[in-house]
Amino acid sequence: MSEVPQLTEEKYNRIISSYEKKTQKSKKIYEEAKKYASLGVHHYLVWHRPYPFFVKKAQGSRVFDVDGNEYVDLVMTMGLGILGHNPPKVREKTVKVIEEYGPHPGLCTELAVEWAKKVNKLFPSCDKIKAVNSGTEATMLAVRLARAYTGRNKIVKFQGHYHGWNDVLFYDVFAAGSGTIFSKGIPENHWENIMTVPPNDMDSLENAIKENEIAAVIMEPLGQTTGGSPFKYGFQKEVRELTKENDILLIFDEVVTGFRVALGGAQKILGIRPDITIFGKGVGGGFPIGAVGGNDNIMGMLGVMDPKSDRYGPHYVISAGTFCANPIAMAAGIATMEELEKGDYIKNANLRAEELAQRLKEVGEDLEVNFSANNVYSVIHFGPKRETSGPAITDAAQKLAARLRRGLDELEFNQMIRPALLLNNPGVVILPSHGYTSGVHTKEDIYNVISAFENCLRIYKE
Ligand code: PMP
Repeated sequence: MSEVPQLTEEKYNRIISSYEKKTQKSKKIYEEAKKYASLGVHHYLVWHRPYPFFVKKAQGSRVFDVDGNEYVDLVMTMGLGILGHNPPKVREKTVKVIEEYGPHPGLCTELAVEWAKKVNKLFPSCDKIKAVNSGTEATMLAVRLARAYTGRNKIVKFQGHYHGWNDVLFYDVFAAGSGTIFSKGIPENHWENIMTVPPNDMDSLENAIKENEIAAVIMEPLGQTTGGSPFKYGFQKEVRELTKENDILLIFDEVVTGFRVALGGAQKILGIRPDITIFGKGVGGGFPIGAVGGNDNIMGMLGVMDPKSDRYGPHYVISAGTFCANPIAMAAGIATMEELEKGDYIKNANLRAEELAQRLKEVGEDLEVNFSANNVYSVIHFGPKRETSGPAITDAAQKLAARLRRGLDELEFNQMIRPALLLNNPGVVILPSHGYTSGVHTKEDIYNVISAFENCLRIYKE
């Protein structure tokens, strides 16, 4: 039972034609969209066969498409939506901000001070915080700060870990559901300064550190895609100790985990103090944002445009951005942190994800389909079970080839199951191989998701 389940062409065509019937308006919009945007979508993860639906309204745990269909949403703005869609407190605060400032005056606001103070209170490792506009920008800035602070260039990342799509770190990334990917358009010599090591392999990390001048080690602290491939117990602590002993910075990318797994992020759960923390998503309450935090010395590398300042000149790091600390994101971020402090959102999201993963696992077993699921806090991972038997591959090139092959199988599985999940009423919208619950998903939502998966997996069995 280890093979990735396949659908016959007849079954596949049936699914696609039912989906097309249900989403006629979306189909028309998609034809138009393709004329103006490559692929017709603006984020490659939201695309699925034969085309994605177009959203008319989003509320709580649900989204509604232009054809009037309703879906339980487990995409949750790529993991951002721990409060669910359109949370009232965030809406109220941001509408007020727009009335007062418009979108962004591009000058200082007190809101940015309040926002940074709140982040600092929740993340004691961050004496200072700098807002940018996306997680991708934040990882770029974190690396620049680490290089400037240590005077070294090389960065070690873990195979598969995603740190945004910038040239700096988009290397050997595992895109959930599509395996290992690289992007064309980045010069190969660019990678002279980035090294990857397999997760959980302390020897490789030690060797990399011994043989190179490393500025920093960067990781998704709960493993690739927040637990899609988790670290073994205690590994992160070992990395912390090793980096400290060697005077190397440790960067935690908490773009997903920061406001999802705990208020205080994965670092709170793990009891580890990274040198630099990267934020995104929740810290801006649903508006475009990224941020970098760290201790006073590291963040003190940020320079100012004042020749009389001791922080002026080529020894300092420049980071700009028209939209940095725009008051809408600041207000939404503050409202989100306040809501998370008051309510049980994180706890509820975790509970729902646990229930869902457990039941999905049982559905796979009951139907005897090679399918399983697990959760890491409020992140659900699902798909064909991984082959664990067979000879261990030791050659690096063969290992990479096996990862690429496996990725292709999983991608095919995801491209089949995603449209099939949309057919239920309500349908279920989810990312390849993973999804996120929010604090407002109900037991009924979870029941709907289970029933959609069950119907899908039955099609394989028919
Ligand atoms: N790091 C991680 C761990 C992420 O999951 C993401 C986005 N999913 C990013 C960085 C990039 O953030 P953004 O999409 O805001 O650029």
